[in-house]
Amino acid sequence: KNLIVTKMGTVYPNTYVIVCGHYDTAVGSGTNDNGSGVVTILEIARLLQNIPTEYSIKFINFSGEEDGLLGSTHYVTSVVNGTTPKMDIKLVFNIDEIGSVAGIVNDKIVCERDLFAPTSNNAASDVVTRELMACTELYSPLKAELSYAYGSDYMPFQENGEVITGFFEHYYSPHAHTTQDLLVNLDTTYVYHVAKAAIGATLHFAKATISTSETENANKDFNVSFFPNPVKDRLTINKGKLTVNDYSFTIVDIHGNRVLKQQFVNAELLETIDISKLNSGIYMAVLETDGHRITKKIVIE
Ligand SMILES: [Zn+2]
Repeated sequence: KNLIVTKMGTVYPNTYVIVCGHYDTAVGSGTNDNGSGVVTILEIARLLQNIPTEYSIKFINFSGEEDGLLGSTHYVTSVVNGTTPKMDIKLVFNIDEIGSVAGIVNDKIVCERDLFAPTSNNAASDVVTRELMACTELYSPLKAELSYAYGSDYMPFQENGEVITGFFEHYYSPHAHTTQDLLVNLDTTYVYHVAKAAIGATLHFAKATISTSETENANKDFNVSFFPNPVKDRLTINKGKLTVNDYSFTIVDIHGNRVLKQQFVNAELLETIDISKLNSGIYMAVLETDGHRITKKIVIE
């Protein structure tokens, strides 16, 4: 069993940006390989928790990476490919070993693109890796260096045809996979800089949207609301300032599955639907009509 955190997207709740690394270690404490990546992923999740993003994000720290990418391979086989249709992945952003070595100048980070077979996904990987490089230099003081992906948890995804990119330290630490892979031997300021770049890139990949004022919010969502929230049996849809009378209403679960869909024709301002058959949990409620798609998180109790 593993803990995977899913942040639901506001526009594309069933298309995922996967931010991943591994928490297992070969020898010793593994502070750089890959404690540095694990803390960075936790920090991205913490800082982005209240920032709306158009795409969903899954934060995953895999196990068994050092034993041959076991956790990520299992995940691709049984989760990504385990449903019909398979999970829709925008890209996989892997963060593995970004601590480098204490006491040297660490001003570059390696951005990794896919150069391996299958080649159908290589051009898209090149595009997102160049975006990662641009975000790195925009959001951190580091220089981005283009290289290629190998030997980490993005590989089972790339073999599955997914689009991948990743971060790896520029100076390859001699302490990795030894008992000297300790906090004192890595550069914590460098980890901080890489984390800034990683957060900026994740906001870019998942398309962060922040409204600066209530007015802007109201214009964007037409004052559409779904209530009560949390809800038990009956959910009311308030179409707010939308002037259209025909729309579709969908509820999507945390796995991206559509669990309810209803078409409304000549809808009143308020329409009420029965949701008592749905399990309790967090869902996205989506109201769609010509040219508008309004998505809000709802909690079913
Ligand atoms: Zn590693």
